[in-house]
Amino acid sequence: MLRTLWDNLLRGRNGFDSFSRFLIVTALVAMIADMIVGGSVLGQFLRIISLLLLLYACFRVFSCNIAARQRELIRFNIFVRECRYRYGKAVSLLRNHNIKEILHFKYFTCPACGQKLRVPRGKGKINVRCSRCGERFLSRS
Ligand SMILES: [Zn+2]
Repeated sequence: MLRTLWDNLLRGRNGFDSFSRFLIVTALVAMIADMIVGGSVLGQFLRIISLLLLLYACFRVFSCNIAARQRELIRFNIFVRECRYRYGKAVSLLRNHNIKEILHFKYFTCPACGQKLRVPRGKGKINVRCSRCGERFLSRS
């Protein structure tokens, strides 16, 4: 009974997707953080953020413009993939090098042969030459 009522409510609407779930979970985390910090300016800020996230999540769930919501979902998924990729890169960098190396060098992979390369940081745009295959490419240091 409740199930069909719910299904009728969501008929022709976007419904729950991973982006809306992410918004709701983030809003809940912000609410919990608000309870922990309590009353302060940061708490009020967190309360407003969590409220806005919840409103946006509701708007997405009940939106009839499914095409537009799908585009948002695709952008969100691309963003998540990018974050995972960067996170993975950061983790492997930390695993393979010490902090001093990371602060002073930038690490690359040669686009032609996959050789790992490093250049000193802070030299602006530089022409990197691969030590293994001789491939040259521009990169920011
Ligand atoms: Zn190479």
